[in-house]
Amino acid sequence: MPDLFIGGRWTAAADGQVREIRCPADGTLVATVDEGGAKDAAAAIAAARTAFDDGPWPWTPAAERGRLLLRVADLLERDKDALARAESLDTGKRLVESCYDMDDIANCFRYFGNLGAAGGTNRVVDTGAAETDSTVRHEPVGVCSLITPWNYPLLQTAWKVAPAVAAGNTFVLKPSELTPHTAIHLMRLLTEAGLPDGAANLVLGTGPVVGAPLTEDPRVDMVSFTGGLLTGRRIMAAAAPTVKKIALELGGKNPNLVFADTEFDTAVDHAVMAIFLHSGQVCSAGARLLVQDELHDAFVDELVARARRIRLGGPFDDNARTGPLISAAHRTKVEAYVAAGLAEGAVLRCGGAAPDDPALRDGFYYLPTVLDECTPDMSVIRDESFGPVMTVERFRDEDEAVRLANDTVYGLTAAVWTQDSGRAHRVAARIRAGTVWINDFHPYVPQAEWGGMKQSGIGRELGPAGLAEYQEAKHVWRNTAPRPQRWFE
Ligand code: NDP
Repeated sequence: MPDLFIGGRWTAAADGQVREIRCPADGTLVATVDEGGAKDAAAAIAAARTAFDDGPWPWTPAAERGRLLLRVADLLERDKDALARAESLDTGKRLVESCYDMDDIANCFRYFGNLGAAGGTNRVVDTGAAETDSTVRHEPVGVCSLITPWNYPLLQTAWKVAPAVAAGNTFVLKPSELTPHTAIHLMRLLTEAGLPDGAANLVLGTGPVVGAPLTEDPRVDMVSFTGGLLTGRRIMAAAAPTVKKIALELGGKNPNLVFADTEFDTAVDHAVMAIFLHSGQVCSAGARLLVQDELHDAFVDELVARARRIRLGGPFDDNARTGPLISAAHRTKVEAYVAAGLAEGAVLRCGGAAPDDPALRDGFYYLPTVLDECTPDMSVIRDESFGPVMTVERFRDEDEAVRLANDTVYGLTAAVWTQDSGRAHRVAARIRAGTVWINDFHPYVPQAEWGGMKQSGIGRELGPAGLAEYQEAKHVWRNTAPRPQRWFE
């Protein structure tokens, strides 16, 4: 069966291109998929435009749209094993992690389904005059281009598709060219749940070839993008000439602040998890450890010992605790980043190379790495590696901790570890990030907004604001007793 989904039909790429998808854990061929091009992107935009302008999805009652999403949540649960396996083969991620992701994805659809099923968010406004009435209606934005990355392929897709569909939009989805399989499966589930033809469209292909037209085409009303900062800037520029609405979820260089009074074992445990989960390929990863001077030596010694014990392996290796990087090119990028840090004076405490285990030779593995004695001017502190690389900086007191934490162009997440609750709240209030954890790292719920301050993005996903991203407010004013005003007489 062909892999592009346009106007309710599965179709091959117009110019016949295909791409091999290989598992990053060992290079085995997962499948060959159709690789779309500009013609496919244009056809998908046309289908989404027609489905929006002619309906019926935008005019379907909000409660009915919500019920469809609840059906999708059930179908995701039904197909959880197959979806998790496909996600692990595409990304190299441990199967158990993909299973957790699938649960989160079903919860996301359920959250937006219930929000939709609860009815519209329209608001009656009191005009103060008996002969007029005034309503603010929340309508869909229109045709949405949804562009997603490879690290959490279906999760990032769900955060966009569920609210976009709940609000009555139609969309064209472009997943990362490296990880297409769960997006293909999702299209089948949306169709099975009853989404009308043309409301959901999928074009596989690269950013420059398929993503670019999705951001430029005047028939597209909104671009919602998750990915890197440089691509985000390019997308903003591409969307500017037609003044599209944009939502950007970009990278992070997230500070994890550990004060000397923290509960030691728990803080070390979370610090290791904060960065080495999914080999650091997590936008919210705690890549930047800031530790108070007097705790520094003991804390870093212990986390280095634990980082050295992390076992690498493929998705189906039960003993492995984390997997490979997504591609050879990405590993080369991480290597260059570590080399730059060492050249600038960072001290390598562990890792800093690919593993020499012959069993891992065919995968894109990189050892958990700790760079100590880093300073704010270093490129390893300023840039995102998106790999298993933790940098360590020291701070003296609360003011210095906050100053260092905010000394970044990013503002996605941060964490503060202390047993002093007053300090925890003061620091959380002063850090400019979309999510701040106190004595925790990584959890999120679909009910709470997710997104970045500063150059980590524009807008929010999840929560009520995640639905509002895909809505336009329209004020409808009605005069029930119109009379001439004679203004010019
Ligand atoms: P990229 O920015 O490279 O790519 C993201 C998506 O954009 C891919 O589908 C890509 O296509 C596409 N793309 C690339 N160029 C263009 C273009 N000119 N026009 C339109 N689309 C384009 O990011 P990665 O896939 O490498 O993902 C990693 C990044 O994502 C990290 O920086 C990470 O921090 C960020 N991220 C942020 C999250 C958040 O919530 N804030 C969550 C997850 C990741 P293709 O790659 O197929 O060519």
